[in-house]
Amino acid sequence: MLEKIKGHHTITEHLKKEILSGGVSHAYLFTGINGVGKKKTALEFAKSLLCTATENKPCGRCSVCSQIDHGNHPDVQVITPKEGETTIKITQVREMVGKLSIKPYTGDLRMIIIDDADCMTPEAQNSLLKSLEEPLSYNLFVLLTTHPQSILTTIRSRCQSYYFHPLNNEVVAAILKAETEYDSAAINGVLHQSGGSPGMGLYLLANSDIQNERKLFLRDVYHLLKGDELKVFALAESLSKDKALSEERLGFLIQWFYEVGLLLQSFELAEGQQPDEAHIAYLKILNNEKNEAILKTLFEMMAILQYNVNLRLQWEMTFIKIMEIQKGYN
Ligand SMILES: [Zn+2]
Repeated sequence: MLEKIKGHHTITEHLKKEILSGGVSHAYLFTGINGVGKKKTALEFAKSLLCTATENKPCGRCSVCSQIDHGNHPDVQVITPKEGETTIKITQVREMVGKLSIKPYTGDLRMIIIDDADCMTPEAQNSLLKSLEEPLSYNLFVLLTTHPQSILTTIRSRCQSYYFHPLNNEVVAAILKAETEYDSAAINGVLHQSGGSPGMGLYLLANSDIQNERKLFLRDVYHLLKGDELKVFALAESLSKDKALSEERLGFLIQWFYEVGLLLQSFELAEGQQPDEAHIAYLKILNNEKNEAILKTLFEMMAILQYNVNLRLQWEMTFIKIMEIQKGYN
C-alpha cells in the first residue's frame, strides 16, 4: 500500500497504519514545495481506501483505481483555481459544500482534495470551515499547500498535518527515471535545479525552453544590477502574469544568489557543479555584503508571496531595493 510514493516513508507508513486500523481522519493538510508528491500521495491514499480488490490495495487495475488515475471517479474530487483565476472562490467551495450531504456514489467515502488550498479566498476558507467543524463520516478532506501560513488557523487545527520535505537528488532521479522516458543525461542535467521536487524536475525536462528563459532572466537581472532602471518595470510586468511563474523565478533567483554567495566566499558549488559565464559576470559586480542583502530581500519577498499580493508591485519594490543595495544606498 502506497509503495508508489517514494521518499516520504514516514508519512506513507502513518497513512497505511490509519487505513489498516480504520482510524482515518476527516481532514488532512499536506504541506511542502510544489511537485514534491503531495497530490500523488493524496490520490494513492484515495485509491487505497476505495480500491475494490480484495488484497494488495490499491491494485491499480480495478475500475475504481483506473477512474481515479484518469481523474473521473465520482467520489474523488479535486478543487483548484478555475482556469485563468488565481484564487479558489467562495462559489466553488459553496458548490462543493452543497453536495457534501449527498451520500457518496460508492456509499462509503468521498475524498475532496483541495489543491493549492492557500489560494482559497478568506470567504472560501470560512465556507469550508463549517464542513470541517461538523464532518459527516463519509467525507474526507485533503488540503494541499505550499504555504500553510495562508490557511486559517481554525482550518489548520482541524486537519492532521504532514510536511513533505524536499527529496534528495538520488530519489528525484530514481522517480524521474521510473516515470519518464528521459535518459540519465537529461535527468542529471535538471537535478540540481529541481530543488528536491520531482515535479519541478519533470517541468524542467518538458520545458527545455525554461533553461533558456532562465538565462535571459539572469541577463536582465544583471543589467538591472548594473543600473538599467527600465528592467525593473519590464521584469516586474513579465513576472506578474501568474503566481506560479513568480514562485518559480523567485526560487531560482534565491538559488542563484546563494551560489554566487558561495563563490564570493571561495566555497565550491554543490556536487561538482562548475561556475559558468553568468556566475563569473555576477562575481565581478557583487561583494559578499551586497549579495547577502539581496538574498535577504528575496527571502522577504518569498514570505510575502504567501499572501495574495499585487505581484507586479511586489516585484517592482523588490527590484528597486536590489538596485539600491547594489548602488550602496542601503
Ligand atoms: Zn484497485
